[in-house]
Amino acid sequence: DIQIDIRNVGKVYGTKGQDNAVIALDGVTLKIRRGEFISLLGPSGCGKSTLLGIVAGFQAASSGQILQDGRPITRPGPSRTVVFQDYALFGWMTVQHNVEFGLKAKGMPKAERAEIARALIATVHLTGFEDKYPHEMSGGMKQRAAIARALAPDPDILLMDEPFGALDAQTRVLLQEEIARISSDAGKTVIFVTHGIDEAVFLADRVVVMSPRPGRVREEVLVPLPRP
Ligand code: ADP
Ligand code: ADP
Repeated sequence: DIQIDIRNVGKVYGTKGQDNAVIALDGVTLKIRRGEFISLLGPSGCGKSTLLGIVAGFQAASSGQILQDGRPITRPGPSRTVVFQDYALFGWMTVQHNVEFGLKAKGMPKAERAEIARALIATVHLTGFEDKYPHEMSGGMKQRAAIARALAPDPDILLMDEPFGALDAQTRVLLQEEIARISSDAGKTVIFVTHGIDEAVFLADRVVVMSPRPGRVREEVLVPLPRP
């Protein structure tokens, strides 16, 4: 049951053939099953964020095709949400309102919105912090809030771009364990971008290793260990 079908995707920044052109992706082919947790592993500059951005619909591929359930991905949508390294929370909104944001966009009534947000805030262990603003919280708490916000629209696919890269080692381990639990409980398909091999292997069903210049898939490794 293939959910995301990445077919021979290329991405060039700048104009092909010009000196300043950067080949960020060169013929990436990858099939991701529904419910699968994929780690996209590779050194800085190998095209991980670019590939994630194309799957998200933030930017277009220069060549090739990406299908979600058989249909081309052409723009961002609530069925794919992203968690960023820098949290990207709305600084002028409380945790509660950050989490409700994507539900408001869907036109959901206030009471229902508030209830779903409260449940998700509990899932990420932030109960009691609903009325805090991002600047009042630690990095780990901000990322918990960002994860709750990303889960709120009940996406099919959760895209995570080095989500724990800015956290200290102890907080990172806690959040790794939580994202393993949450993604498997919720049955989400996850693409997790990282340059940390331990984290990649710990979390994923399959590790996709990329190499740079130009960005290509070098190897795919099935992780045989049971996940927590
Ligand atoms: P990371 O390795 O964490 O993905 P990068 O330094 O590659 O971070 O990129 C950070 C941001 O800068 C991204 O939004 C990326 O698209 C942009 N970026 C990276 N390289 C360039 C570049 N050569 N020119 C313009 N923007 C770039
Ligand atoms: P990674 O996420 O693996 O660090 P990126 O996808 O950020 O890799 O970048 C892949 C390559 O594309 C790098 O050489 C980077 O400098 C370049 N790049 C990324 N974004 C841009 C951009 N907006 N403009 C120009 N070059 C970019």
